[in-house]
Amino acid sequence: MGTVNIALKTFIENLGYEVVLGPKPTARTLKIGVKYSPEMVCLPFKITLGDMFGALENGAEMLLFIGSGNWSCRYGYYGRLQCSILRKLGYEFKTLFIGTQNLKSIATDLLEMHNKSWTSVIKCFLYAFNITYHKSKLVDLAEEYARDTRPYEAHEGASSNLLQKSLNTIENENSVLQLRSMKTKIENDFAQIERNGIRAPLRIQLVGESYCVIEPFVNFNITGYLGNHGVLVKPFLTSHRWLYYHTIRKDEDKDFSKKRAKKLAQRYWAYGTGGEDQVSIGYAIHAAHQGYDGIIHLMPFCCMPETAALPAFETIAKTYDIPFLNISLDEHTGTEGLYTRIEAFLDLLQWRRKKNLFGGRRL
Ligand code: SF4
Repeated sequence: MGTVNIALKTFIENLGYEVVLGPKPTARTLKIGVKYSPEMVCLPFKITLGDMFGALENGAEMLLFIGSGNWSCRYGYYGRLQCSILRKLGYEFKTLFIGTQNLKSIATDLLEMHNKSWTSVIKCFLYAFNITYHKSKLVDLAEEYARDTRPYEAHEGASSNLLQKSLNTIENENSVLQLRSMKTKIENDFAQIERNGIRAPLRIQLVGESYCVIEPFVNFNITGYLGNHGVLVKPFLTSHRWLYYHTIRKDEDKDFSKKRAKKLAQRYWAYGTGGEDQVSIGYAIHAAHQGYDGIIHLMPFCCMPETAALPAFETIAKTYDIPFLNISLDEHTGTEGLYTRIEAFLDLLQWRRKKNLFGGRRL
């Protein structure tokens, strides 16, 4: 999902294991996932199942799951169900479920598998944790610079190319010291991108279901698309923030915490029903307070929490007079249809900008 793989690969490799990544999600893996998934299960289940086929075909012996097993929506049984489907199809593999509730059992697994003393396991674990954090944070920063530079770039693709280059460098670096020193370089590199003179681009807040907001294959790279159309995009969640919140409950958004988001959302949505519904609602209200031009809500077709939360988003859009676009994604969603809807939404936002600029007079 997104760039989570960079951090996880680093973590597991530094524990002494070989990591076999599945292919990035593609039309082929989606097709395989759809074929073997229950029809009405949500889209992320189908895609991740397809990814698992890819990883097992590439020789993976163990599948790792994050957060699965302790959730109020279907995500709670994703892992177990996917394992059962794969085993019924004849695949043999071990599993590791990562979450705050079973850190102890993970440590015991490590001890057994490595046949080492506790001291060396702890030392190894701490180093892996430290370097993973620095890498993941730097990836997050590079992605943020790319999002914030894209609408201002003079040559389309400059930010995306630099981002890809930076991600490759970060991924290949295995020294905390070097990673620390790369921060300034990445910042300077993005600052040097030639600007197009735009001063006040449209600002859009992305909210919704985590996988749909973070994974570019599923959302048709909406962040890049909006950026290339001169929009400053702010996703409520990133790969880094998702990873650290759902593994060790560390909130990495320093500007607007999940706690604040949930508190703000309470008037419209008293508690979370699974996924990120309540947090998303809080971010939507925050975006309205911050004067954003619009909100885009991404969700998988038949996602239970996000479908239930839709009326709350619509109420917020009306109350705060902020345009809101809901996009439901499934395996049948196509690029043209999606981009056409987004373009129409952007036209509306531009029109509102002009209207407000000219005091509501007809242009
Ligand atoms: S949040 Fe929605 S899409 Fe994600 S696992 Fe839960 S029900 Fe499925």
